[in-house]
Amino acid sequence: MHLTIYKMRPDVGAVVHAHPCTATGFASAGIALDEPLCSEIVVTLGSVPLAPYATTGTAALSQSLAPFIPNHNAILMANHGVVTYGADIQQAYLRMEAVEHYAKIVLVARQLGRAEWLDGREVERLVQARSHYQKNCG
Ligand SMILES: [Zn+2]
Repeated sequence: MHLTIYKMRPDVGAVVHAHPCTATGFASAGIALDEPLCSEIVVTLGSVPLAPYATTGTAALSQSLAPFIPNHNAILMANHGVVTYGADIQQAYLRMEAVEHYAKIVLVARQLGRAEWLDGREVERLVQARSHYQKNCG
């Protein structure tokens, strides 16, 4: 899994894999963290897709992640955990923290029964802000 990410993303210098409780709960429930609920997450992390289940340590696990690696920096692994990556270990680690933080926000919003998504036009503005941020702030 780690080698697949390094091969597919030459910009990546570190990979973090963990099993944080809330995000892994979403992964085990088959729910991606791809709802635009929180502007900060749209700007900093983007959506977090859910890769299908595959056995740990097998080529099948890398294959399940591969379609998501080019366009995401964090992936939920069904019935397993989370993988994040970045230019260095600090960025990869902070992305892992952001995934768990966002999972808690989504859980609370769903528990409250009023998870209201940002509209498409606002998401587009935030994606543009993200692009600007990445160019100017690394
Ligand atoms: Zn694991």
